[in-house]
Amino acid sequence: MQHSDLSQMTEITPTAPMSAALHGGRAKCLQRLIRLDLPVPRTVALPFPTVRAIAQGQMPDLAALLGQFDAGALLSVRPSSEDPDWGGPGAILNIGMNDAHHAALSETLGEAAATALYVRFLQAYAVDVAHLDPDEFETDQTDADTLQRLLAAYKDEADEPFPQDHAHQLAAVLSSMARAWEGTSARILREARGAPADAGLGLVVQEMALGVGPAESGSGVIQFVSSDTGQDIVTGRYLSQSQGRDALTGLEGAIYLTRDERGPSLQELCPDVFADLIRIGGICRQRLREEMQVEFTVSDGRLFVLDAVRIARNSRAAVRIAVALAEDGVIPKAEALLRIEPRALNELLHRQVDPSGARDVVAQGIAASPGAATGVLVFTAEAAQANAARGEPSILVRHETTPEDIRGMHAAVAVLTERGGRTSHAAMIARGLGLPCVVGASRIAIDAADQTLTTRDGRVLNAGDVVTLDGTAGEALAGAAPLLEPALGDSFRTLMDWASDHQDIDVRANADTVAEAQVAATFGASGIGLCRTEHMFYEADRLTVMHEMIFADGPDDRQGALDRLLPMQRADFAQLFRIMEGRPVCIRLLDPPLHEFLPNSRSGLRELADALGMPLKDVTRRVASLTEFNPMLGMRGVRLGVAMPEIYEMQARAIFEATVEATRAGNPVVPEVMIPLVSAFREVELVKSRIDAVAAAVRAESGTEFSFRLGVMVETPRAALRADEIARYAEFLSFGTNDLTQMTYGLSRDDAGRFMSEYVSQGVFPEDPFHRLDEDGVGELLRIGAQRGRAARPDVTLSICGEHGGDLESIEFCRRAGYDYVSASPFRVPLARLAAAQLAIRAGTKSAQL
Ligand code: PEP
Ligand code: MG
Repeated sequence: MQHSDLSQMTEITPTAPMSAALHGGRAKCLQRLIRLDLPVPRTVALPFPTVRAIAQGQMPDLAALLGQFDAGALLSVRPSSEDPDWGGPGAILNIGMNDAHHAALSETLGEAAATALYVRFLQAYAVDVAHLDPDEFETDQTDADTLQRLLAAYKDEADEPFPQDHAHQLAAVLSSMARAWEGTSARILREARGAPADAGLGLVVQEMALGVGPAESGSGVIQFVSSDTGQDIVTGRYLSQSQGRDALTGLEGAIYLTRDERGPSLQELCPDVFADLIRIGGICRQRLREEMQVEFTVSDGRLFVLDAVRIARNSRAAVRIAVALAEDGVIPKAEALLRIEPRALNELLHRQVDPSGARDVVAQGIAASPGAATGVLVFTAEAAQANAARGEPSILVRHETTPEDIRGMHAAVAVLTERGGRTSHAAMIARGLGLPCVVGASRIAIDAADQTLTTRDGRVLNAGDVVTLDGTAGEALAGAAPLLEPALGDSFRTLMDWASDHQDIDVRANADTVAEAQVAATFGASGIGLCRTEHMFYEADRLTVMHEMIFADGPDDRQGALDRLLPMQRADFAQLFRIMEGRPVCIRLLDPPLHEFLPNSRSGLRELADALGMPLKDVTRRVASLTEFNPMLGMRGVRLGVAMPEIYEMQARAIFEATVEATRAGNPVVPEVMIPLVSAFREVELVKSRIDAVAAAVRAESGTEFSFRLGVMVETPRAALRADEIARYAEFLSFGTNDLTQMTYGLSRDDAGRFMSEYVSQGVFPEDPFHRLDEDGVGELLRIGAQRGRAARPDVTLSICGEHGGDLESIEFCRRAGYDYVSASPFRVPLARLAAAQLAIRAGTKSAQL
């Protein structure tokens, strides 16, 4: 059945109604090129519904379609999906080639050129349209004998002669492309690139600019900035007597575009064409507001632009291009910010393997996603998730990944696959997530049942072995290789500066160490939102003193150990203040269950007895007496501060003495002191009165005035519900969404991994609530806590500092709920800042439109 409605196919003219949502991005882009007066051959666009109908066997009126072109013109058909990144079936060129045309073109172009065109079309048609055996049509020869052989092979394989009718050929091409789009593998591929399930395909039918002929003819591709760095540099290739993207396929004779000492160039061969291309590049950049790759053909010395696409780019290049466009006034700064996907920053931010370190390579493959990470080998997505729930980084190893592995990939720090290439599932998903990834490591052998990986030199690695994956070099290294922090360019810093201009929710960092604080400062965190002081006690020289403190019989005994810890803590805080240069630093008083500091092995107990000079049996008894049934709900946080006040007093003193030091050095700070795991206002009242007393003592002793802010971590449901009375004693409330999630669900942070994947796969939870904030339940507590806290103290500062602080959706939630800042791990700070800026820009755009 044929439709005759011409509106289903639209010749692309400057004024034709055309949209990416109906005709696809390529059609829309071609219209823009035509509006810019660029030499684009005549093109007709078929919209999504027409192509969908073609896939179901309903052809548009082909005579009418052909009637839009010069009689006998050869045609090409190209896919035009809404977003060009979603891909589509390959282009088919030279439709219309047949015996008669061959004879005619032999007169005008010469027989060799005409035969080459015919062979080329025949090959593409046989393999991609008629789906005949590709081996029968595989050849590099384009001479007359080959043409005859291929025509015979076609007849043999297809049981009919090669179709000579133009309309018949075109119908077959349109229908094969329309059906290819509906196929399962095409759908999986585009959905992995973010296409919706019902994404449509448009097709563009274009008159061929032949690229072959007696005068200079050929084709090429040009771009004006580097896809790797975004720097201005003209790259591409040109090949005489060629078509489409032939120049890029490594064929002999392809030449450079700019003058180059390595060989001939288009600039020398056709200076006018080259100059025209440079001019066109400038027009595209300015008017399309984008860096484009231009596909061009030269026919008899005349330049044609066949197509232009956004240049492919990695994240580094994307940032540089967006910033350069904004700096040149081509796009506003806000648009540059919106053009960068926050998660893409991961690629710029990730660590790399230190090249000066030794490399014990155990696997080699394709470098599919940059960055490096160290973790333990796991062979299943479930194991990666279980490890992530325990905070243990894992390297996920698979033959190849499938959509079922995506959760495991989210949970892993890196991915290694035996199969696949740069566009395979693992590679694309890992790049999207910013995870280091190596694919196609074909010389390793994975035994999923035994959970082993055998390297090409016969070494066997087991689940749990430590490996470093270098996604930049495409290698896996045995052990924990030394890693380098990322080097960031000026464009990144500029983009981050612009983000600050728009952000309306602050982003701080969770940082406990000097190194983390330095990263936080480099990435422009507006302060430290959480310094977990217990993390400062794990170093060997402090652990013994810590043990003495824990083992002390009473406050007097304990004081000796605290006196020794005081200068260490003071130095810690002084360093954090220095690094953060006046930005707020929020220090959380000690929170751990005490037994975490105690040994549980026989040898550990013996060492401790030695260090403390105590009999082993006394040490064993004391350790046993401190052991709790449920330490996460035991003597933690403020409970420790209430039961052993001298510990918090020591920490408060260290904070205030460091504050005095900073003030005397001319860098005054207003430290923030945070009380953890509160559930009743009386806890805060008690601790506050002691901290106030310490502050008064330090002021008197030092003769130096300073101020500080006291706040509370809201980590228990009760604290959220009673936020009003708590806020009377607290200048800020920082919601610890890790514990709050644990306690709201009654779900152990440390054990949830055992069944979380079951829960998520059976749809009990839509997502792991420790990764994605549960807006319905935990979020309700956050809203209630914020409202009640604000009602009691309107100027109370509100924030979250659990792992959710770096999650895009959670940031959006906090912004909506009126929080002042989120605090995220240092490497997530840029992502969070960009996300925050984008939220503010979008919100502004909306209100401006109203
Ligand atoms: C929290 O509970 O969210 C929090 C930030 O504290 P921690 O993870 O140290 O318990
Ligand atoms: Mg907590």
